[in-house]
Amino acid sequence: MLIKALAFAAEKHRNQRRKDPIQTPYINHPIQLADVLSSVGGIHDTPILCAALLHDVIEDTDTTYETIRDLFTEEIADLVQEVTDDPQLKKAARKQRQIDKASLKTDKAKLISLADKICNIKDLYEHPPVNWSRQRQYEYFRWAHQVVAGLRGVSPELEALFDEIYEEDIKQLSQDIATMEE
Ligand code: NDP
Ligand code: ZN
Repeated sequence: MLIKALAFAAEKHRNQRRKDPIQTPYINHPIQLADVLSSVGGIHDTPILCAALLHDVIEDTDTTYETIRDLFTEEIADLVQEVTDDPQLKKAARKQRQIDKASLKTDKAKLISLADKICNIKDLYEHPPVNWSRQRQYEYFRWAHQVVAGLRGVSPELEALFDEIYEEDIKQLSQDIATMEE
């Protein structure tokens, strides 16, 4: 089931790249989520790991909920749907909705969202998207921190990893911004 999810996600994200300068293949990101969940979170639940591999296919490709349900299971499709933003909403509303809805998610969806935020702040700091200022990175970190506030209580290990990366990097980002303002 895991290999099937990996192959499906790889095919769907085939032509997509991350926003960093070397245009890392998009599939690296879902793989990172599954790796963090398993190696840091100690999570070996197949539906969670499959949904982590598939977590961006509804949002970023032509894949529908029904396709995932039919190829995988209803539980996996529900999890992917839970971590998918509503495409009808504008960006600011989507960002706010993630903050407002985080605590209402199921525990399994919280784990996937937590891993997503860990991987994104790590990526954002280590391989920043092209043309992102330090200020914009800082704002993303602050937003991610607000979302994670609603995701706490499901994995002390994952929370600790988020906090560790957040605290270390936000300090550096703040210093860089202060230096630039001088
Ligand atoms: P986006 O949502 O547009 O971009 C971040 C998303 O891109 C991540 O969540 C991730 O999503 C994906 N991504 C792809 N490649 C990378 C990578 N290398 N590193 C990290 N993430 C990557 O960001 P926002 O528009 O939310 O910008 C963050 C903040 O900046 C906001 O709070 C906004 O207010 C502010 N802003 C500032 C602007 C400025 O110029 N100063 C302009 C616009 C916004 P996924 O996991 O789904 O792939
Ligand atoms: Zn993601």
